[in-house]
Amino acid sequence: MKYHIVTYGCQMNLHESEKIAGILKEKGYLSSAPIEEADIIVFNTCCIRENAENHAFGNIGALKKLKREKKGLIVAVGGCLVQEEGKAKLLKEKFPFIDILFGTHNLDELGDLIERKRAQKKSVVSIKEARSATEDGANPVRTSYPNAWVNIMYGCNNFCSYCIVPYVRGRERSRRAIDILREVEALVAEGYREITLLGQNVDSYRGEDGTTFPALLDAVASVEGNFRLRFMTSHPKDFSEELVAVMKKHDKICKHLHMPVQSGSNRILRLMNRRYTREKYLEDLALLRREIPDCEVTTDLIVAFPTETEEEFQETLSLVKEADFSSAFTFIYSPRTGTRAAEMEGRIADEVAKDRITRLVALVNEKTREKSAKYVGKRIEILCEDRDEKKGMYLGRDEYGRMGYFKSERDRVGEFVTLKITEANGISLYGEEV
Ligand code: SF4
Repeated sequence: MKYHIVTYGCQMNLHESEKIAGILKEKGYLSSAPIEEADIIVFNTCCIRENAENHAFGNIGALKKLKREKKGLIVAVGGCLVQEEGKAKLLKEKFPFIDILFGTHNLDELGDLIERKRAQKKSVVSIKEARSATEDGANPVRTSYPNAWVNIMYGCNNFCSYCIVPYVRGRERSRRAIDILREVEALVAEGYREITLLGQNVDSYRGEDGTTFPALLDAVASVEGNFRLRFMTSHPKDFSEELVAVMKKHDKICKHLHMPVQSGSNRILRLMNRRYTREKYLEDLALLRREIPDCEVTTDLIVAFPTETEEEFQETLSLVKEADFSSAFTFIYSPRTGTRAAEMEGRIADEVAKDRITRLVALVNEKTREKSAKYVGKRIEILCEDRDEKKGMYLGRDEYGRMGYFKSERDRVGEFVTLKITEANGISLYGEEV
């Protein structure tokens, strides 16, 4: 029997899909297959942005014909969209052919839900409130070799006014440091070459005996073996000198910090409930670069938050110039029902929002191109992670997150490769092995 998983959203969800694949495997669905050939199709949804939600609704709706034609096909829908208030009911009403609905807090029940569905004709629904337990017990089928994601915590307490995460993922729960260390040791022993520690806000990590995130990072970076270490996401309000000191101490930790700033305007940051100022953010970057001069910083930016004026948007543009990000994920504000921002007045007109995002993307791309161009003629070390069949080239990222492409006669996935860069195109670099 075969499975097909459709994933929406971030790394967190991608890793959850690996755990879902592990559960399916235990239930006898042994291999992944194209959607038309699958015996079970699982949608791992995301509700953080409106377009991810719309996408999921569209894709689930498109399954109606296949479900009618293929006897025995099981359709399961999970993820944070299902956890959002009222959405499970809506999904069931719109798509009565869904067999299983499960939330983010009962991933490990999916195996039982499949059993129950097989035993009965009726669909099964199980959506729970956040648990205090932090181990979900799933044994993931990892699909991202040589990279491996490791959850260090779940949920978030920050309640940024635009964000639905605390409502659908619950409050922060940290895993035990000892369990994280064992998982990392096992992954390194299996040959994984890049470990990414994952959490909605890694800096809030608190281990069983009060272990802080810098202390955890220090311990993980001390694991023996040939691997590099990343972590995400960092909240600027929790930036600390201790974190910088640990990053500086270990060569294994990539010199790359993803620290979402969201806006360059202090008034908008207040409305967003981000709890830092533009000045503090820039001071922290200055400290980081004093200590680790070649550290690259990437960020997330939201434009057209309710009431954002043109001048405040200009402050975001000027921050992008000052902060010297190597790249940024840019978004138009997307109201999420149930959040404080969704109740705010002063919604920005679509044409204004589109104009702002266009100008922001142009600036971010220009900065990225400028930075990339400086690499031409230099050497970088990448971890080869895949082959791009269209380009006929292997690819991988350097520790700063830049993608490098090169040609090779043999499979190089999983190897560290040094390239001499001959061409730069946007965030991508092209080079020859040296
Ligand atoms: S820190 Fe803010 S934006 Fe990030 S997950 Fe938590 S509430 Fe959402």
